[in-house]
Amino acid sequence: MENLVIIGTGPAGYTAAIYAARANLNPLVIEGFQPGGQLITTTDVENFPGFPEGIDGTALTTQMRQQAERFGTRFKEGEVVSSCLTCLPHSITLSDGETIETKAIIIATGASAQYLGIESEQKLIGRGVSGCATCDGAFYKGVPVAVVGGGDTALEDALFLTHFASKVSVIHRRDQFRASKIMADRVMAHSKIEVVWDSVVEEVMDVSKNEVTGLKIRNVKNDEVSELAVTGLFVAIGHKPNTQPFKGQLDMDHAGYLITKNTRTNVDGVFAAGDVQDSIYRQAITAAGSGCMASLEAERYLASME
Ligand code: NDP
Repeated sequence: MENLVIIGTGPAGYTAAIYAARANLNPLVIEGFQPGGQLITTTDVENFPGFPEGIDGTALTTQMRQQAERFGTRFKEGEVVSSCLTCLPHSITLSDGETIETKAIIIATGASAQYLGIESEQKLIGRGVSGCATCDGAFYKGVPVAVVGGGDTALEDALFLTHFASKVSVIHRRDQFRASKIMADRVMAHSKIEVVWDSVVEEVMDVSKNEVTGLKIRNVKNDEVSELAVTGLFVAIGHKPNTQPFKGQLDMDHAGYLITKNTRTNVDGVFAAGDVQDSIYRQAITAAGSGCMASLEAERYLASME
């Protein structure tokens, strides 16, 4: 039986692992399908303290992993598909069928990009429709693309895409950005970016050719539908917490985020850190901070069991 299993390898999971390993808790980290978490889809992280010139997201997570390994953290590839958190010991089951029993768990499974949900978009995911500009942007050299959303992710994506695309259209459903002012100012001042306000994507064309040739866009104020010729659509409309394997066992809010008090869930010995329990701040640094908290809480819990 394991002492402490940490699920997830974003800043929350790695930080929890660093603290737990240094406290001799011998943690096992389950890596998930995207080791490194959302940070690996980011190029420059400019707001993580300690890196005055910024740092590449993948480099940052690689260094976090090395730091966790240095103190003896063990890693295991695999996706958690189900769990029994009310069981004692707790257990998790991976996609290959293996079940792992453990005295304590830290859930740091993060959140995943959301899509619009329209049929034509779903059919063209990976064929011109993407949820990750930093992963796929380089495929769109010299062609026009669009970004949907008005938050920091959408604007960061739009600015990033200007390095490749001939033109970037930001389609936002309101007449005001949700993003921070500094990002909005950069976008508004950029010669390659055009903002399409008060508009939603009705259809992605051309499903029959199995590639994106354009978008049908509806202005929500006057219902006028227009066409926009683009070869790529980047959807940046927020994220969904990865809590499916824990449904029905842990308290969650209406959107599925875990409800915690000082990283403790409603089940003794089960803790949560990072974006999976934070719909408000969602920053690498806050995720790392809560990973530290969860590890300290797990340490106290395990000590109290002895
Ligand atoms: P947000 O929730 O902040 O923004 C989502 C955007 O998508 C909103 O503008 C929203 O519109 C729009 N939207 C949501 N659903 C739909 C839909 N169905 N159709 C069309 N538009 C839709 O998510 P982000 O991922 O942008 O940011 C998450 C958090 O991470 C934020 O706190 C952000 O500040 C932070 N972040 C920070 C960065 C940095 O500091 N470098 C970089 C990226 C993110 P509406 O505004 O109308 O609700």
